[in-house]
This record gives sequence, structure tokens and C-alpha cells, in this order.
Amino acid sequence: MGDCFFCKMAKGEIPTNTVYEDGDVRVILDINPVNPGHCLVIPKTHAANIYEIKPDVLSKAMAVAQETALKVKKATGCDGINILQNNEEAAGQTVFHFHIHVMPRYKGDKAFNYKTITMTDDEFKEIKNKIKMSGVYEI
Ligand code: AMP
Ligand code: ZN
Repeated sequence: MGDCFFCKMAKGEIPTNTVYEDGDVRVILDINPVNPGHCLVIPKTHAANIYEIKPDVLSKAMAVAQETALKVKKATGCDGINILQNNEEAAGQTVFHFHIHVMPRYKGDKAFNYKTITMTDDEFKEIKNKIKMSGVYEI
């Protein structure tokens, strides 16, 4: 992925506000934060999304997201933190290199929310069985 912007940022070829880096990941400040301290955990190897990422890389990224959440909580005194990870355009993904958002939140900040739906028992049963019976996801 020679032209991937996040690959270049992760590898340090483009300047970023980096708060942590090791051989596997870089953690940077999001340029359009929901609140100050909004970070992105970016693996240094390219994968477009959760479907493609290797489990060991995902595990490492999630462990770093946990560490980052603890550091952001301590640094900002925020009331809560969202861990967010978008996959595909319909889910809000705009950068197609896997990354995990670590978002500090404050009571009443209205940064974002999601709406829920109601489902019948039969609908729950149907979707539960469909998911249980699904094989490996193929795009
Ligand atoms: P997503 O919508 O989950 O794909 O998230 C992409 C995120 O990357 C957005 O929150 C953007 O604000 C952020 N972003 C895009 N370009 C940059 C950049 N150059 N530096 C820091 N964050 C960026
Ligand atoms: Zn990339």
C-alpha cells in the first residue's frame, strides 16, 4: 500500500502529534478530535479494516488502546472513554487503514451517540441463528 496516508504516518514519514510509538504501532492525536486527547492507535502494517487485520496485530493494537485509554483518562480527567473502530463507509470509516479511536468523553458533551431499534423475540432468534451459523466472513 505505497500510497496509503496512514501507512506513511505510522512509519513516521509524515509528521504527526505522536503520544506513543513502538515497533508495531503509533498512537497519534486525531486532527479532528471529539475532545482534546482524542487518539488514534495505528498499526504499522497495512490492513484496511477488521476483516483483514492479522489477529496478533489486532491484539497488540487493542492492548495499546487500553494503555492509551488509561493515559488519556489520567491526563485529561475525562468522565469516560469510547473505544471506536469503524469498518467500511456505511459504518463511518473514512481512512481505509485500520485504526482504533480512543475518545475522551464528558458528561453531557453530546459528541456522538447512536440510536437503537426495538426487535421482537423472533427477530432476535433469527439474527442470533444466522450469526451462529455463519462461516468465516468473506468480502
Ligand atoms: P475513521 O472515520 O474511523 O476512518 O477515522 C479517521 C480519522 O482520521 C478521523 O477522525 C480523522 O479526523 C483522522 N485523520 C485524518 N487525517 C488525519 C491526520 N493527518 N492526522 C490525524 N488524524 C487524521
Ligand atoms: Zn496503510
